[in-house]
Amino acid sequence: MNYFENYEVWFVTGAQLLYGGDAVISVDAHSNEMVAGLNASGNLPVKVVYKGTANSSAEVSEIFRSANGDTKCVGVITWMHTFSPAKMWIHGLMDFKKPLLHLHTQYNEEIPWNDIDMDFMNLNQSAHGDREFGHITSRLRKPRKVVVGYWKDKSTHQKIAGWMRVAAAWADAQDLRIIRFGDNMNNVAVTDGDKVEAEIRLGYHVDNAPIAKLVPYIEAVTEAEIDTLVAEYERIYDFADDCKKGTEKHQYVRDSAAQEIGLRRFLQEKKAKAFTTSFDELEGMKQLMGFASQRLMAEGYGFGAEGDWKTAALCRTMWVMASGLPGGSSFLEDYTLNFDGEKSSILQAHMLEINPEIAAKKPRVEVHYLGIGDSGTCTRLVFQAHEGEGVAATIVDMGNRFRMIVNEVEVIKPKPLPKLPVACALWIPQPNLEVGAGAWIIAGGTHHSSFSFSVTSEMLEDYAEIADIEMLLIDKKTTIREFKKELKWNELYYMLNKSLR
Ligand code: MN
Repeated sequence: MNYFENYEVWFVTGAQLLYGGDAVISVDAHSNEMVAGLNASGNLPVKVVYKGTANSSAEVSEIFRSANGDTKCVGVITWMHTFSPAKMWIHGLMDFKKPLLHLHTQYNEEIPWNDIDMDFMNLNQSAHGDREFGHITSRLRKPRKVVVGYWKDKSTHQKIAGWMRVAAAWADAQDLRIIRFGDNMNNVAVTDGDKVEAEIRLGYHVDNAPIAKLVPYIEAVTEAEIDTLVAEYERIYDFADDCKKGTEKHQYVRDSAAQEIGLRRFLQEKKAKAFTTSFDELEGMKQLMGFASQRLMAEGYGFGAEGDWKTAALCRTMWVMASGLPGGSSFLEDYTLNFDGEKSSILQAHMLEINPEIAAKKPRVEVHYLGIGDSGTCTRLVFQAHEGEGVAATIVDMGNRFRMIVNEVEVIKPKPLPKLPVACALWIPQPNLEVGAGAWIIAGGTHHSSFSFSVTSEMLEDYAEIADIEMLLIDKKTTIREFKKELKWNELYYMLNKSLR
C-alpha cells in the first residue's frame, strides 16, 4: 500500500489583476502545466492539486481556510508568478495551520536573450514576486520551507518530495494515539516529559493501558490463527534449531505469535499507531512482547521501550517519512561502546525490540531467557543491520521547550556476537565518537533513539520547524566549541521567542 495515496498537497499561484485578465489566464495555464509536470515526474510521493490563482485578500483567505478544513490536504505550496502584493496574504497566512512550502521557481527556464520583451516580463516575474511574498511570511514569523530551483529539475523535486514526506508525517502525528502498557520506567528522567505540552506542540496523544486490559486479547487468539502466523514466520525467517516446530522451545514462538495477533487487534481497536512496553509490568503475560514489537514496528507502529512515549511517537513519525523508501527505520538504544581509534563506534541494540526492516540478512527466530524484570523466556528476531548512512534522532523535554537532537551516523559492519542473542547495528556517530557522542550528551540526548537509513537530517529539520521546537544537528561539521555556543544562543532564543509572535 502507498501510505501517501490518501493525501494531497495544494498548489496556489499568487498573482494580481494589474497586468490584465489575459496575463492571469496565461499564468493559470502555466500553473496547470507545472502542476501536471510535477505529478508526472514520478518523483513526488504526494499528489499535487492545483487550486488556481489567488488575486486578492479574499481569495487568499478562502484558499487557506479550505486547506485548514480539508483532511486530505497536508500542506500548501505557494508560488508567486507575479508581484503579488503581499498585504493580501496577511489574513490567509495568519489563519493557516498546516505546513507551507514556498517554491521559488519560474515557468521559463533560461532568459531568451534575443526575444525577451515586456510581454515576457509580465509572465515571468517570480524573481521579485517571490521576494515580496517572502517578506510577509518572514514578517509574520511564519515557519515555512523555501525551495529554490527550476520546476522541471529532479533536484527541485527531491526537495519538494522530502518536505511532502514531512508534511504527511505531521498530519499523521496530529491523529496519533500512543498506548503505554505500563508507566515510564521508575526514576528514569530522559524518557519522561510533559504529555500535555507534547499534545499542544506535536499533536500526538498518549494514553495508558494496564497490561491486564491487553491479556484477554492475547488469550482469545485461536490455535488456528497461531498456526497461520507461525507458518508465515517459517516462510520469511530462519529458526534456531531449538525453537523449530516439534522442539522444546517452540511453544514460546507460538506464545509470541498470540501476543502479536492480540496486540495488533488491541491497537487497531483503540485506533493507536504507536505503543510502549515495560519489562517491569507484565502481570498476566507469559513473556515480554519483544518479538511482537519487532513485527509491529515493521508494519509502521511506533515503538518505545520502558514507557518511552516520545521515542514511540518519533519512531512512528520517521516511519511515515520513510514510507516506500529503501533502508528501513528502527527504535534503537546506545548499548555499549567500542573504542577503536578513528573507527570508534557504538553498538546499537536493545533486549529485544529492533525493527527487522534494517536487517542485512534474513533474521533468525531465537528463544532465550531474559533475566531483567518480569521478562521471562522471550522469542526474538536476531540479526545485524546492513551498512549505510543514516540519522539517529530523539526529542527531550527541556522544561521550557522540546529539543530534537539529530546525529548523522555511519552504520558499519559489526563482528558476530555469538553469546549476545539480540538484533543490533554498529555505528560511528558523525563526525566521530568523541565529538558526536560528546555533543549528544551535552545536549541532554536520550539513550534511546529513533533511527532511519532513509530519513534525512533536512527532513527532521523541516519537521522541527513546523512543530516550532528546537533542533540541534550533529554532523560532519560539528565541533564541541561551536555546539556549546549554539546551546547558549538557543537558550536565549527560546526565552525570547514567545514575545516575537
Ligand atoms: Mn531501553
